[in-house]
Amino acid sequence: MALITNTARAKQLAANLAAVRSRMAKACARAGRDPETVRLVAVSKFHPASDILALVEAGQRDFAESYVQEALLKQDELVGQDILWHFVGGLQTKKARQVAGRFVLVHSVDSEKLARELARRAEDAGVLQSVLIEVNMGEEQKAGVDEADLPGLAETVLSLRKGDVGLDLQGLMCLPPVFDSPEEAGPAFEYLRELRDGLSASLGVALPHLSMGMTGDFEAAIEEGATIIRVGTSIFGERPRKP
Ligand SMILES: *Cc1c(COP(=O)(O)O)cnc(C)c1O
Repeated sequence: MALITNTARAKQLAANLAAVRSRMAKACARAGRDPETVRLVAVSKFHPASDILALVEAGQRDFAESYVQEALLKQDELVGQDILWHFVGGLQTKKARQVAGRFVLVHSVDSEKLARELARRAEDAGVLQSVLIEVNMGEEQKAGVDEADLPGLAETVLSLRKGDVGLDLQGLMCLPPVFDSPEEAGPAFEYLRELRDGLSASLGVALPHLSMGMTGDFEAAIEEGATIIRVGTSIFGERPRKP
């Protein structure tokens, strides 16, 4: 069945996307960065496939989901569209099979158990699954590996690449603690960049990507070196409570 997008909604989404892209361009200019080096991922969780299609028509290509079932349903609805799907939510080990090979990048690897299972499933599927390690930046958060365990996990993930299959470690991701103002997130982003630089040097591997920055703080993240920003609310508006 064809997806039908309300024209007014499609116009609104295209305008929101253009506004976010213009804010990104300004942040890049302030930071002296080439806008081509920052990828905008539109976080579409809880929003319908028709919204995604409207944004595809407005030129957006990267979309992220946080829940496996919801993501796979939308992939089916939008099959054939020129979309790069990202997975950014907490991932249970038992769902690794459904994720391996179906997302261009999994941002949320945070344990050895998950890494091993995702690698095994990627091998079974004959694919090299690109991943980021999610780092826990605040004690109130459950997701993410603690900084002390980051080097060990990174070594494990690197060992799970078997030629053209398994896992391919591309960098780090974080969800910083919620601050009252976006400027306060700056040091958290700077810290993630330093962790990445240290890890890259100690392990002798390139870790090109830093996935950080959302609606409230993506400009600060760009100024601190984000290569991927994950923006939901500024593009889609407030999320409905349930999908
Ligand atoms: C929902 C979500 C986002 C988007 O958040 P907004 O504040 O709506 O931009 C980004 N990253 C992750 C991991 C998310 O779950």
